[in-house]
Amino acid sequence: MGCAQGKYSVSSSPTPGGLEKLKMESGYVGKGDMAGPRRSTGQRYSGRLPKPEQPTRKYNGARAGNGEERKLSDTGRVRSVEFGGEEVVDGWPKWLTDNVPREVLGGLIPKSAENYDKLAKVGEGTYSNVYKARDKETGKIVALKKVRFDASEPESVKFMAREIVILQKLDHPNVVKLEGLATSRMQYSLYLVFDFMKSDLSKIILRPEGKLTEPQVKCYMQQLLSGLQHCHDRGILHRDIKGSNLLIDKDGMLKIADFGLSNYYSPKQKQPLTTRVVTLWYRAPELLLGATDYGTGIDLWSAGCLLAEMFAGRPIMPGRTEVEQLHRIFKLCGTPPEDYWKKLRLSTTFRRPRTYKPGLFEAFSEFPESALGLLTTLLALDPASRGSASSALQNEVRT
Ligand code: ADP
Ligand code: MG
Repeated sequence: MGCAQGKYSVSSSPTPGGLEKLKMESGYVGKGDMAGPRRSTGQRYSGRLPKPEQPTRKYNGARAGNGEERKLSDTGRVRSVEFGGEEVVDGWPKWLTDNVPREVLGGLIPKSAENYDKLAKVGEGTYSNVYKARDKETGKIVALKKVRFDASEPESVKFMAREIVILQKLDHPNVVKLEGLATSRMQYSLYLVFDFMKSDLSKIILRPEGKLTEPQVKCYMQQLLSGLQHCHDRGILHRDIKGSNLLIDKDGMLKIADFGLSNYYSPKQKQPLTTRVVTLWYRAPELLLGATDYGTGIDLWSAGCLLAEMFAGRPIMPGRTEVEQLHRIFKLCGTPPEDYWKKLRLSTTFRRPRTYKPGLFEAFSEFPESALGLLTTLLALDPASRGSASSALQNEVRT
């Protein structure tokens, strides 16, 4: 079932969140044409390509810059007690209640890291370690994301808190759900608890069975766009859409994960946001050119990169530097017209590249026609022409 080859059958029971219905209604998935077992280990991108430059991230005390600052509301405190030398408020360490609003923690039960048996490390990044673990009480297999932050840096703690606050605002079958929070006796150790997911989209793209079929791509794409629509409707930009942040469960259900770089945005009251977001290969041109008043278009651009990556079986624009990335973009999408530069109101002077004609159709001539239509929209140089996740769902993907 789900987007997995050999597992899908029309008569089988529905996947969580009505995925089956979704797929049937939209004609995404045909019978018996789904992806097979996935590689659970192994290097992404076959180890041939260098890892893309990661965006500047949180928890390490690094400042967002560009005036991007958020105020976390104060946490009215109750029942504060000393426990093993650490001040505890309502069962939570005080450093957590000082930074995460109480109503956000309200729905969660304070857990101790000692409640879990760590079974294996399944993800290691600069900013977190993710473990497969078993809840000792219930036996349930979960993912524990240990977040790194510098407790002595208020800014770093704020970024950590923001991931929790944003996760708690979201509630959609295509977005990971924060199941709990666990702290350890070791001061300032925090684990985010999630349902364990079998794979992620970057591993699935690299599966040994070969490229994904059109129905499979559509199935994943619809789920990605549905999840993004939910985030954007709630005024949240993800800002790091890429394969390894899109988790896939055993039924082929896709869930957007890793909200460590996400932030609020308001189309009406635009506040300057940092441009140091999104992994380089998936970074929209306006970010590379320094725009700070960007919006949902940046996530849609990343989704476009992934749409092409799913068909091509490899990342489509693996730039090594920001300048190279921009040139790869212009080579593929054409050099922007004169008014593009004016609209961006760039503070820096950028040396205009030589003139390229849009080359999307030539580069991806083997892609299905319907995909090329959506790709042209999502990879529009002008963010205003990318539409929205919901317009992409309504108009393009249903073809
Ligand atoms: P980081 O901020 O370090 O990128 P992520 O939330 O993206 O943290 O997690 C890192 C990796 O850990 C993911 O790419 C994925 O491979 C794995 N991972 C994260 N959450 C889960 C989960 N719920 N189930 C299984 N693996 C997960
Ligand atoms: Mg990640």
